[in-house]
Amino acid sequence: MSRVFRFVPYVTQQDPGSEPEYSAECVAGDEEACGAQSGTWDGPETVDDWMREHMKETGHRHFRRSFVDFAELVPAARELPAGLEPAKAERVRA
Ligand SMILES: [Zn+2]
Repeated sequence: MSRVFRFVPYVTQQDPGSEPEYSAECVAGDEEACGAQSGTWDGPETVDDWMREHMKETGHRHFRRSFVDFAELVPAARELPAGLEPAKAERVRA
């Protein structure tokens, strides 16, 4: 049994409702990585500060940085679905 899907074009965009996440992990170490974690922050500056502090304390200078963002699929159609609020309608047009 097969299902028929109606094709609706969507575009991917960064979800403006969710802040991106920045973090770093110390990978310094010869046989085993240090593994110290910065925690997750909403900007790269705090992670950078953490890395500098960690370097001061340990001398470690190598990190694996992560950036995570959230995506949203929005209809690409010119005719907006009924019930779409104005703020979202603006994002669709942008
Ligand atoms: Zn370290």
